[in-house]
Amino acid sequence: MKPARFDYARPATLAEALALLAQPEAAVLAGGQSLMPMMNLRVARPALLVDINRLPGLGEIRLAGGVLRIGALARHAEVLASPLVAQAAPLLPQALAQVAHAAIRNRGTLGGSLSLADPAAELPACMLALDATLVVASARGERRIPAGAFFHGLYSTALAADELLLAAELPAAAPGWRFAFLEVARRHGDFAMAGVALALGPNAARLALCGVEAGQRRQPAAEAALAAGDPAAAIAALASTDAMDGPDLPAAQRRHLAQVLLRRALAQLEAADAAA
Ligand SMILES: Cc1cc2nc3c(=O)[nH]c(=O)nc-3n(C[C@H](O)[C@H](O)[C@H](O)COP(=O)(O)OP(=O)(O)OC[C@H]3O[C@@H](n4cnc5c(N)ncnc54)[C@H](O)[C@@H]3O)c2cc1C
Repeated sequence: MKPARFDYARPATLAEALALLAQPEAAVLAGGQSLMPMMNLRVARPALLVDINRLPGLGEIRLAGGVLRIGALARHAEVLASPLVAQAAPLLPQALAQVAHAAIRNRGTLGGSLSLADPAAELPACMLALDATLVVASARGERRIPAGAFFHGLYSTALAADELLLAAELPAAAPGWRFAFLEVARRHGDFAMAGVALALGPNAARLALCGVEAGQRRQPAAEAALAAGDPAAAIAALASTDAMDGPDLPAAQRRHLAQVLLRRALAQLEAADAAA
């Protein structure tokens, strides 16, 4: 298949990119790993592709004042290999090691994954578990959106058509917090059938799933049970998730996988504590 006819622009500045995105039917091109196949299948038919790959500084990763800022254009492979990320957000390398394959990780970007909001993708769940803030901009100005308000459900986010995701900002891991990302996929590198992103702190927890529910959200009942020191109740709470249903993977099986993964994640953290 070939894409429908489109115009192409490769702006050199952010201001130029935002002006182009204000045009009707414009779409951002980042790594192109999802958008190009969608265009080839004509599921997406943008009139104008705004290629952000030459925008300066958009792929930067920096840690300052206790905040890790990862630019939207940071490639999965760069985030996976970054010592700053390993130090301040150790959940991310655990998750990214399971995202696709090397060739796709070399092109795919943080911003592309978050903007697409695939329910099976690992990074949206990590943003929720890490309490990220997403920084977005348009010709109208900049705004900051907590991860919990950014994801609106199946392939849907708070981004307006003319907005560009600039970066994710994450509070650096605080002392006493531990992190685990576990998933089950049919083959290594496939999208998750179910995954858990867990941040466990002293009397507090943040938990998000991928591949289970159609939308991306935290699991407040399980989090409350974990904060109260009741892991069995937390695992039981995942039996009530609004799991996706289908002939390939029934909802009951997705819920079961989520429960097994949370149990394993908790055991992994406990074993690491015992070994420390
Ligand atoms: C074979 C294969 C296997 C994969 N496996 C996995 C997997 O296991 N887990 C996983 O999470 N992902 C997986 N992916 C997806 C991949 O890792 C990328 O995350 C994904 O393609 C999106 O990133 P991208 O940079 O390629 O975005 P693009 O394809 O360029 O864009 C995707 C969408 O986001 C929009 N967009 C991109 N950047 C921005 C921005 N900064 N601001 C606003 N909108 C933006 C685009 O307009 C488009 O709608 C896989 C992809 C392939 C092809």
